[in-house]
Amino acid sequence: MAKLRNVTFYRDKLSLSPETAAKMDKMAASLGFGPLYKPTLPQTLTCPKCKKPNAVIKELHPDTDMNTIALVCPDCGYEEER
Ligand SMILES: [Zn+2]
Repeated sequence: MAKLRNVTFYRDKLSLSPETAAKMDKMAASLGFGPLYKPTLPQTLTCPKCKKPNAVIKELHPDTDMNTIALVCPDCGYEEER
């Protein structure tokens, strides 16, 4: 059986002090991985177009300050700005 990638893969090859390792774990968590990262399941909604319950609210431009959020359906590709 294949071994799962270690969650601390980004620092496994470095010899770090526990303080630095903790800092890296915190940074990794803010980027969406590492042992401290707690994924939050997105709330799903019913798509108004295909009626499947997999639509999610997501930010369209997370790298900008535009704050455009939209309902996006992964099944039919429906997108509706909120
Ligand atoms: Zn849909």
